[in-house]
Amino acid sequence: MRKDGTFIAVEVADETAADAALATKLTEACPVDIFATADGGKLEIVEKNLDECVLCRLCMDAVGGRGPDLVKILKLYDDGAVLV
Ligand code: SF4
Repeated sequence: MRKDGTFIAVEVADETAADAALATKLTEACPVDIFATADGGKLEIVEKNLDECVLCRLCMDAVGGRGPDLVKILKLYDDGAVLV
């Protein structure tokens, strides 16, 4: 799943988003509430908060890594550069 704000886009692999334990970790990790957990434990990306991202990388740390198979933060203001 991917959602785009004006400056930031967040992409989470479908397998990660469907994993209730990882969804909870992401929800708890992000300081600006970009992630939420829906009924049933599936991850949601909170579109209205996307541009609040402070590039802290806590989401990537929470799921044990970074990259297309986990969670990816894209800097749309920098030609879509991926936060590493
Ligand atoms: S980098 Fe930080 S602020 Fe941005 S989505 Fe991840 S946890 Fe949230």
